[in-house]
Amino acid sequence: MKKMILCLVISLLLGAGGLGAQTAAPSVASLTVIRAGTLIDGASDKPLKNQLIFVRGEHIERVTDGSAPIPASAKVIDLSAATVLPGLIDSHTHIFLWGEDPAKGGYDVNILKAGIALRAARATFATRRALEQGFTTLRDLETEGAGYGDVEIKQAIEEGTIPGPRLFCATRAISTTGGYNLEDYAPELDMPRGAQLVDGPVEARKAARQQLEHGADWIKVYMTHRSWVDKEGKLVSQPTLTVEELKAVVDEAHGWGKKVACHAYNGIGLQRALDGGCDSIEHGLEITDAQIAQMKQQGTWYCPTLEPYYGDWAPADTAGGKRDRARAAVHEISFRKAMQAHLKIVFGTDMGGIPWTEPIAQEFRRMVSLGMTPMDAIQSATVRASEMLEMKGEIGIVAAGAYADIVAVSGDPLKDVEELERVHFVMHNGAVFKNELTK
Ligand SMILES: [Zn+2]
Repeated sequence: MKKMILCLVISLLLGAGGLGAQTAAPSVASLTVIRAGTLIDGASDKPLKNQLIFVRGEHIERVTDGSAPIPASAKVIDLSAATVLPGLIDSHTHIFLWGEDPAKGGYDVNILKAGIALRAARATFATRRALEQGFTTLRDLETEGAGYGDVEIKQAIEEGTIPGPRLFCATRAISTTGGYNLEDYAPELDMPRGAQLVDGPVEARKAARQQLEHGADWIKVYMTHRSWVDKEGKLVSQPTLTVEELKAVVDEAHGWGKKVACHAYNGIGLQRALDGGCDSIEHGLEITDAQIAQMKQQGTWYCPTLEPYYGDWAPADTAGGKRDRARAAVHEISFRKAMQAHLKIVFGTDMGGIPWTEPIAQEFRRMVSLGMTPMDAIQSATVRASEMLEMKGEIGIVAAGAYADIVAVSGDPLKDVEELERVHFVMHNGAVFKNELTK
């Protein structure tokens, strides 16, 4: 009874508080003005000089030239000696993956040796690392056996418990029996898996439904798994889902207004990914001319993730070493063809497969070394990614109405794209997270 009275008193007090808040004058968020010496705004093909970015609350109110008056009450951040850009977008990460170095136990230790609390702590580190390097949005393409942990990390970021970028989560990912790690253990052992394994369109659709129910923003599907070099020296990849299985996933995801990302190296699996109607091809190591034409026609996004295929090669005379070299050789050709065909290329790194201690922006260097212009590479990580994520005008751009996701470097990234590995200023949703450029 006492409890009931107490509840009544509390609810009355809360009610009164709520009423008071409603009748008080609406609080107007304070104004911050960033003075940008050079602005690469994500939309223009050329940088703009001497601009003012007016930020109020979480959003950019307007962008003007440097002569516009600044209200005396505004807080001014002087980045007139810096290059200012939209917050960067990495469209392929794994915050729950902690490297795959064979010397450290490879992929398997992520699942076998780390409990979920340790994995969550590492994911927390990863999201902080991303934000401090200027990546204000990640499309995180599956948790590698950590279930729906990404959705909960996203919740922790959104409620302000931990720092981190805006997350698009893929949750568990889907593959088939024989189509994902952990594997090569004694057959009588029932090993945990890094993805949800399905066989048949009914199971495929059910997995998609389960993942969407638990908060997936995207569905990730593995359309190829193992790869090796055949007798003719050609790269071959084992296909996983059938077209019918993938179609069930795509149909379900599209019904929920969500998209499907397909990991596909080459060959049969990549063809099935396209025929099944996937929205983005991940990695796409070897894409034929006909497949490029099909991607162009279907409007398929291409997220190449070049960098992971250029490091940690096995010795040249081993089967693994031959495979590693074949992957990189064909990847380079596909990337150049995709650029020529003007496929919609987005920046992705596969961070997590690469340790989170390494610079995320090293992928820019790789893209530019293969012939992409620095401006095109920047747009792949800003405006173009925002289109894929259906947030055009809201992220990946410095313009009125967009979220105030703003970063700065001290040099000129159009002359030296490695400048993007040295981000000195980060604002996310209007809040300064890092500022090494002004006092
Ligand atoms: Zn990946």
